[in-house]
Amino acid sequence: MDPDRARVTELSGHLARLRSRVAVACEAAGRDPAEVTVIAVTKNFPAADVVRLARLGLGDIGENRDQEARPKFDEVARHGVAVRRHFVGRLQRNKARSVAGYADMVHSVDSVRLATALGSAASDQDRRLEVLVQVSIDGDPTRGGAVTDQVPAVAEAIDGQPALRLRGVMAVAPQTWLPLTAYQQLAEVARTLRREHPEASVISAGMSNDLEAALACGATHLRIGSALLGNRPPLR
Ligand SMILES: *Cc1c(COP(=O)(O)O)cnc(C)c1O
Repeated sequence: MDPDRARVTELSGHLARLRSRVAVACEAAGRDPAEVTVIAVTKNFPAADVVRLARLGLGDIGENRDQEARPKFDEVARHGVAVRRHFVGRLQRNKARSVAGYADMVHSVDSVRLATALGSAASDQDRRLEVLVQVSIDGDPTRGGAVTDQVPAVAEAIDGQPALRLRGVMAVAPQTWLPLTAYQQLAEVARTLRREHPEASVISAGMSNDLEAALACGATHLRIGSALLGNRPPLR
């Protein structure tokens, strides 16, 4: 079997298994799977895999590093394939201009300064971005994320940028926490935010190993790497 066919078969098997996990978890939570968006996080995998996934019907693609994302998304576009581009990784202010040039949704805005930089970068390039506030669940901001009491200020800063649209929250569960505990806390932050910003209805939470817990807590967007693509090859 030619290697491309073999990879398509492998990806479509992974996708079928993932869809059934999502269906079972949604059933358990009394939710409709149609309200859940699966984002394939394709970091360390080639543009060819993005094209394959898009052709299998998975058109939401996430990347976590600008220097990898930009050329990969360009290559996907050269194949004539349109995908929704999610930036899910830590974002330094000096990359805001680049990311604003291609992202449709940025999941990782965690400071007023970053919101301002991203807003003016998007505006300069005549782009409109959907933006999530990344929340630090355990209050340790070193891995990214705004601590809970900073979330309203970051949300206001996003809301004040005409080129940005505040859509909700994102978090990565701390490694040492039970995912359910972490995602319950995120759901509480999301509820509080929606009181001031009813349009901020997105909860980006849940990865390959903990998507069931995230769906039980109301996640609307799952960020899935290894369960779709396989174990990540080392960085080139
Ligand atoms: C890599 C990554 C994911 C996907 O992780 P898996 O465990 O492979 O599903 C999700 N979110 C972010 C921010 C990531 O960097």
